[in-house]
Amino acid sequence: MNMPTTYADVVRAIESAGLVDRVIALHSSLKSFGHLEGGAETVVRAFLDTGCTLVVPTFTYGCQVSPPPGWTLAQNGDEGRHPFDMEHVTGFDSASPMIERSMGAVPAYILSLRARVRGDHPLNSFAAIGPQAAEIIAAQGMLNVYGPYKKMITRSDAYVLLIGVGLTRTTPIHFGEEQSGRRLFRRWAKQADGKVMEVEVGSCSDGFNHFDPVVNGIEKTIQVGDSQWRIFPFKPFIDTIAAVINQTPTITHCDDPDCIRCRDMVLGGPLLSARNNS
Ligand SMILES: [Zn+2]
Repeated sequence: MNMPTTYADVVRAIESAGLVDRVIALHSSLKSFGHLEGGAETVVRAFLDTGCTLVVPTFTYGCQVSPPPGWTLAQNGDEGRHPFDMEHVTGFDSASPMIERSMGAVPAYILSLRARVRGDHPLNSFAAIGPQAAEIIAAQGMLNVYGPYKKMITRSDAYVLLIGVGLTRTTPIHFGEEQSGRRLFRRWAKQADGKVMEVEVGSCSDGFNHFDPVVNGIEKTIQVGDSQWRIFPFKPFIDTIAAVINQTPTITHCDDPDCIRCRDMVLGGPLLSARNNS
């Protein structure tokens, strides 16, 4: 069995990877470390102590509700089916620690910290902590789900960091889809005050491993304990993804030939100009 990974190991890794003081879109699996002393707290503290800002997805799919009667949108990745409960859905509260379990331990830990900042998007909120957190998160809107990434792409100090996870967990690739000219799917969701609203959401990410060879040239990898870290400069990463989607739109399609979300996204996303309610 390998030695446990410690706080000092993580700090050393951040320094050797050139990530000190950076703004980082972080996607992580703590299990990848084998034994990590102190768990999520160790990782988050190491990044904060080295001046970093962490930006993580803190999604809450359970706040989704059905759209208003008669609302439809073609090519919206849903075939017009919205089997959601209106009455019993808990509304989204950005001050609460509510989060999908699948988001992992680090986003859940960040939500427990007083200094964190969280967007008020009821399905796909992002949270951040660190010196740039407020500015990055303020850019998120109901119909601007990837506003935080739009801030990050203007910064040369922004990075994507994957700790022990692959590209199927890399939310910024959905932003790459948007940058390629695709329109994002629309859903409806409930806020804590009971208000129901239309929001943008990401699509299926099960096929995103197809980008592995594409981003190889801008990727740096390091080994931290048992964990492999993959590091990409943010803007080149998004630009590369968007360019490849334009060349080969089907690259984002997952292995399920019947995936409705992948089908509609490959076609360019919802037909907003043809919508019946505007
Ligand atoms: Zn799919």
